Amino acid sequence: MTDYDTVSADVEHEEEIPKDHPRYQDLLTRHRIEKGVEKGITHLQGMHAEGRGSAFDYLLGEATISSAEEAERVAAAHLLLADHPVLSINGNVAALVPGEMVELAEATGADLEINLFNRTPERIEAIADHLREHGAEDVKGLEADARIPNLDHQRAKVDEDGIYAADVVVVPLEDGDRAEALNEMDKTEIVIDLNPLSRSPQVADVPIVDNIIRAVPNMTEHARVLADEDEAELRSIIDEFDREAALEQAEDRIRSGEL
Ligand code: ATP
Repeated sequence: MTDYDTVSADVEHEEEIPKDHPRYQDLLTRHRIEKGVEKGITHLQGMHAEGRGSAFDYLLGEATISSAEEAERVAAAHLLLADHPVLSINGNVAALVPGEMVELAEATGADLEINLFNRTPERIEAIADHLREHGAEDVKGLEADARIPNLDHQRAKVDEDGIYAADVVVVPLEDGDRAEALNEMDKTEIVIDLNPLSRSPQVADVPIVDNIIRAVPNMTEHARVLADEDEAELRSIIDEFDREAALEQAEDRIRSGEL
């Protein structure tokens, strides 16, 4: 037994997880989801979603592959060009990257909107508080005064001046039905999901196959670098992107990559 095996799954603070642990990112991700459940931010089902993601990240070598890095840059270009960009926040996203989403919103001028699969007023409030604790000033998703067409009532709820009106949406760890319905609304859809075969990345204009804890800081970094580029340059970055090739490279890595 190595010392690493003695790292308890229920460490109290994430600083206790050794950074040189071979599965550091997985332990960190798991820890944040557990804390999210304790805090009433994350639904228990979010743990299952996390488990699925964790398996894919293991096969990717817990690293950002080159096609994901490119997709993150393309996503930043889309957000900078958008008239009304919105970042969608669910219980897993809030638990894993609250401050990082606030920073991405600031770097791109996007709104933050809470959008839950299992929607209760308590969870919405807990997530809004959590985002505010991490620096968010304006949080959308509390009004829920519009509906995404072709979805059942609960999952269709969005803000009229938020996701409903957005031209570019970032929907991380999104369920397939909602990703499809948003896509039918003619929005530019950016999906972050570790499973390239899941419906959400399959329908996305920009599928980012990467762990959200790596993807979001990378997108922010790209947005800061691209902030002063002119529109033509941002458009050419977008036009050069091949979504099919990005999905294929991710699937290849998962199926045949060396660990
Ligand atoms: P779908 O409904 O899209 O066909 P699903 O039912 O597997 O697929 P959900 O449970 O709705 O998907 O969403 C979870 C998705 O989020 C999974 O595809 C999982 O791989 C992904 N995921 C989980 N954790 C992370 C993470 N930390 N970073 C990126 N993706 C993640």
